[in-house]
Amino acid sequence: EAKRRPGGVVVFDDALRTRMLTEQSLRRDLDLALERDELVLHFQPIVDAATLEVVSVEALVRWQHPDGVRMPAQWIAFAEETGLIVPIGRRLVTLARAGAERLGLPVAVNVAARQLAEPLFLEHLRLDWGDDNWHLLTLEITESALLEDLTHVIAALTSVRALGARVSIDDFGTGYSSFARLATLPVDVLKIDQAFVHDLDLPGGVAVVRAIVTLAQAYGLDVIAEGVERSDQLDTLAALGVPKLQGYLLGRPSAQAPRRVDLAGDVVT
Ligand code: C2E
Ligand code: CA
Ligand code: CA
Ligand code: CA
Repeated sequence: EAKRRPGGVVVFDDALRTRMLTEQSLRRDLDLALERDELVLHFQPIVDAATLEVVSVEALVRWQHPDGVRMPAQWIAFAEETGLIVPIGRRLVTLARAGAERLGLPVAVNVAARQLAEPLFLEHLRLDWGDDNWHLLTLEITESALLEDLTHVIAALTSVRALGARVSIDDFGTGYSSFARLATLPVDVLKIDQAFVHDLDLPGGVAVVRAIVTLAQAYGLDVIAEGVERSDQLDTLAALGVPKLQGYLLGRPSAQAPRRVDLAGDVVT
């Protein structure tokens, strides 16, 4: 880390210097990514658990860097820290709108806490999405977004819903929102985190999902289970009354979204 020497001279050790260089180049690269249109959306199907009909898609960003595709885990957190997620997110809303139109399906867009916190979020959203077809848009936010300035976040989400878009809580069950608080939040959908789907066959696994479904029904919320990779998970979730499913078993994210799901067989991981 930086050390202050007598006389106020700051010296940096090698680790800090390396980190700054890496972050500087990532920052420059991300700026260029926007300029050169290297960010694209892939769409993953969300299906009706009973009929396997594709009812909507989730938009997932891919960075087509000249050196190869960079997955969000490699840079989204950095984009949030630097605020670059704000212009990036605006671009993705425009791409999501185009995708919804091309696919003829509603699209769910991931929104980082940092984006929601932006005072101009709603104004930008209206410019970037356009002034109609709000029913084709869902915003996915994680529970951590609800730890920010809650009054502002609730106001923003309430306005989003007043326009006709929907709000979904992503990775539900991994964060801090208490079950009781859900009733007061302006949300429409709970997305059960993939960890719970993965752990379905562990002791207590079924009980957790059943509790989330019961809760969602009590508050009139829709439910999507994420990370479905095997047909036994699909069967269990459907039997538990989870209405919608998403996961590699039903389809991987791709530039094209399938209109029909043909179960190819369990995903080997
Ligand atoms: P997320 O929103 O929870 O998205 C689900 C992630 O799980 C995606 O990873 C998806 O490809 C992956 N996934 C889907 N089905 C399965 C499955 O059956 N098994 C497994 N193991 N994984 C599955 P991805 O695309 O790498 O995105 C990772 C995270 O990056 C997302 O998690 C989200 O938090 C963030 N992210 C992705 N796109 C965007 C975006 O456009 N904007 C923002 N702000 N964040 C994004
Ligand atoms: Ca998501
Ligand atoms: Ca998720
Ligand atoms: Ca996640």
